[in-house]
Amino acid sequence: MGKTLLQKVWDLHTVRMLPSGQTQLFIGLHLIHEVTTPQAFDALRARGWTVARPDRTFATVDHIVPTLERRRPFLDVLAEDMIAALERNCRDFGVRLAGIDDGRQGIVHVIGPELGLTQPGMTIACGDSHTSTHGAFGAVGFGIGTSQVRDVLASQCLAMEPLKVRRIRVTGTLPRGVYAKDVVLTIIQRLGVGGGVGHAYEYAGSAVERMSMDERMTICNMSIEGGARVGYVNPDATTFEYLKGRPFAPAGEAFDRARAWWTSIASDPDARYDDDVEIRAEALTPVVTWGVNPGQSIAVNGTVPSDREAGKEAQAVAEARSFMGLQPGQPIAGMKVDVAFIGSCTNSRLSDLREAARVVRGRHVAPHVKALVVPGSAAVKQAAEEEGLDEIFRAAGFEWRSAGCSMCLGMNPDKLEGSQVCAASSNRNFKGRQGSPTGRTLLMSPAMVAAAAVEGAVVDVRELVT
Ligand code: SF4
Repeated sequence: MGKTLLQKVWDLHTVRMLPSGQTQLFIGLHLIHEVTTPQAFDALRARGWTVARPDRTFATVDHIVPTLERRRPFLDVLAEDMIAALERNCRDFGVRLAGIDDGRQGIVHVIGPELGLTQPGMTIACGDSHTSTHGAFGAVGFGIGTSQVRDVLASQCLAMEPLKVRRIRVTGTLPRGVYAKDVVLTIIQRLGVGGGVGHAYEYAGSAVERMSMDERMTICNMSIEGGARVGYVNPDATTFEYLKGRPFAPAGEAFDRARAWWTSIASDPDARYDDDVEIRAEALTPVVTWGVNPGQSIAVNGTVPSDREAGKEAQAVAEARSFMGLQPGQPIAGMKVDVAFIGSCTNSRLSDLREAARVVRGRHVAPHVKALVVPGSAAVKQAAEEEGLDEIFRAAGFEWRSAGCSMCLGMNPDKLEGSQVCAASSNRNFKGRQGSPTGRTLLMSPAMVAAAAVEGAVVDVRELVT
């Protein structure tokens, strides 16, 4: 009987079985940032411990960094304290840091792959839920909490529950105007926000195999929003091509040896899955969330569910509708937006910005909309500027910012105000997520956000681009 990639990586990283039934796993790469590390480092200091493997630890700053005015000290004293603590901790414990002025700075899940730190067959941990992003490379990425960050810093190990594997095959060809974001929102809508609990999601099928690494990262990124602990794609030629020449990827003969090993850790053709799901790509449309979790979504030409359509979920659906100010049966297209946000570790990579720029070129943001583009990393920003994408966005009335998490969450100056409605390329539409308790978030692809920005309302991007 063959094995899945998850089983192979799990077995190779198992240190021992714990009496709790958990597995103690060795962690190949620990990515850290300013928000989930201060207490973890304090705990190490209090016990006189060191970081077990600084050579397998890499830090960046992303969650709290301003994307507009980045002079130090930051105006926000708490943010300044947090970044200063990370700088001190990295210095004291010998951890590499891509700081605010470093050309490698950016959102932790953007820079890991970009620098070639993320590689197939690795176990990766990070104190952020969306660490599943790294699964796009055939790595097994765990989002962890602060106490687990402490454990990994101290021991380079993590205690994990065993996982089942659900294969999700996306077969066929995506129609024009339908993107990886629409694929993953559809998966979450169909399987539910809790549908993946206790599972790893293996994404496969011809549509996934044809995807770029950026697109695969978008899909794996949101695995956690469907309840899956981990999401991954088997490594292939697209993966290897992406990694070649990256600063931390193996080079020369070492790359050839690594490629042979990376190939071997892909799921075997006769691997057994706990569940198998097929999604037909041809049937997909652009998707928009209408509610307060990423599973509450509909096709852009759909209508907000009524109580009858919601069935057992009627009460939750009614509450979400009320929070969002929507009526049963109301078309989502035409819902007015106040803010358009293109960014976050889900959709802030170069290909995302290119697709959005294609929509806004020669158009202008609607007068009542505040629109911003926040590249995922300093490198994405520079590459976009070299292509002139910043000029396209600026000419259309977008603000062009520096790299950070920005409006994905309300931990920096980029926040919604009052009950503003935001078309967002990020990953969570929970109440209060974007910094205002009454702010309303509509998740969609970056191209759809661009379309909403210029129309001033939710619109089918297929009407704007041919
Ligand atoms: S962009 Fe959002 S989800 Fe991604 S790392 Fe930052 S806060 Fe977390």
